[in-house]
Order: sequence, then C-alpha cells, then structure tokens
Amino acid sequence: MKTPRLLSVLPLACAALLAGCTTSKPYVLDTSHTAVSQDSRVRFIVLHYTAGDLDRSLQVLGRGRVSSHYLVDDKQPVTVYALVDENRAAWHAGVSSWYGQTALNASSIGIEIVHDGPQEDRYGNLSWAQPYDEAQIQAVIALVRDIAQRHGVAPRNIVGHSDIAPLRKQDPGPLFPWKRLADAGLGRWYDEAQATHLRQRFDKQGLPDIGWFQDNLIRVGYALDRTGLLDNATRRTLSAFQMHYRPARFDGQPDAETAAILQALP
Ligand SMILES: [Zn+2]
Repeated sequence: MKTPRLLSVLPLACAALLAGCTTSKPYVLDTSHTAVSQDSRVRFIVLHYTAGDLDRSLQVLGRGRVSSHYLVDDKQPVTVYALVDENRAAWHAGVSSWYGQTALNASSIGIEIVHDGPQEDRYGNLSWAQPYDEAQIQAVIALVRDIAQRHGVAPRNIVGHSDIAPLRKQDPGPLFPWKRLADAGLGRWYDEAQATHLRQRFDKQGLPDIGWFQDNLIRVGYALDRTGLLDNATRRTLSAFQMHYRPARFDGQPDAETAAILQALP
C-alpha cells in the first residue's frame, strides 16, 4: 500500500513548496502588478419576483436551469440568499436588451424577490393583489444600494425584468415600489413638476403619434422597432414602461400622462 500513500501526500507537498513544484502549470503566475485601467463587469441590476414561495424558489433557483445572484425571502427577519458569486453570471435575464446591450446575464446582477406574482382569473386576466412586504423592500433597497455602490451601477441601469424583456416578462410587477428606490437614490425617476406641466399641454394639444412614443421608449432604454404602429411589441413595451413609472394603469395604451412622464424622464 505504499504507492497510494505517496500519491496522497503529493498535492500537499506541491502546496507547501509552491514555485518549486513542477507538476502544475507550465508558467509562473505573477500577481504583483495590477492594471489601473479596469472596472466591474456589472453594468445592470435586474429585479425579479419568484412567483412562488421560498422553498420552491430555492429549489428552482438553486437546482434548476435558472438562477440569480441573490434571493430575498419574505420572512422576518429577512434573509438574503447569495446563490451565485457576483463575479460569475447567473441565468436570470434570458433574451434581454437595455440601451442596445443584449444578453444581460453577462453584465448584470440578478435579484429575485420571493413574491406570489399575479393571480389569474378564469378568463386569463392577471391581477396583482399582494403588496411587497415592508421589511422585504427595505432589504431590497439596502442590497441594491450595496451592489450599485460597489459596482458603480448608474441609476438608469437599475431595472425590472419587464423593462429588459417586455414581450416576455412582467416581473417585478406593478406593485414594486420603484419610486421608493428612486427616492433612495437607486434607480431613475422623472421630473414630476415637468410631467404635470407637459400633461396639461398634451391634454390640450392632443397626443403625439405612435412613432414619437416609440422614439422616446427607445431613448430611455427599451428595445423596440420604430414601426409607427401600435403593434403588439409597442403595447407590451408601453405597458412595461407604465408598470415602472405609472403603475396605476398599465394597459399599454398611449395617453397624455404616459407621454408626459416619458418626456420628463431623463
Ligand atoms: Zn424575472
């Protein structure tokens, strides 16, 4: 039994001798110089709801074909599960686009929030009735702040899954308090005084055409073709925009208030 014992000792000997060990890589790795010109790979923070309880969410995100960097539970006190290292990509965004950047798994941090999501009636209509828990929102704000500061994520790049994939996704849904995040300096908001003024003007002068809505949705980050038509993609994208900035009504129809908010959004 001499040979196995010798083999089991060999890695320890390598670790101890380091440079002297010739059985590992055929080069010397020198980490004593660090380049000044570098930044984080993380450009975006994407928020989701799980549409399922904690046990199921841990099962799906931990063992399934999707994942997220963080999972925020709905218990007291709130626990945040770190499922994927921030230096690695989690599989949460799917086919996605924001400001022309696509496939955002590579450049984002994904946060899943335990929440039931919408109820569906017998006609297939969805409604969101369950508010986010206050402690959970406070945890999300603290978590987003920490990530945004460490990676230098711009406010306009703190988004919902519905923003980056409006044709497929509706999470984190119309009950997610984007305004509170913006008030905490996290995420973008519009100039409300300017929006009030603009709304009066649109009410008086009539709505801009669909091409104007499309141009402005594209200007503020959404991926959309400028067809000039109120097609399905435009309705879904308008709905995603409304869910984020005017959640009282997100029917995907152009209206004066939506136009005003859109124009007042930097
Ligand atoms: Zn999602």
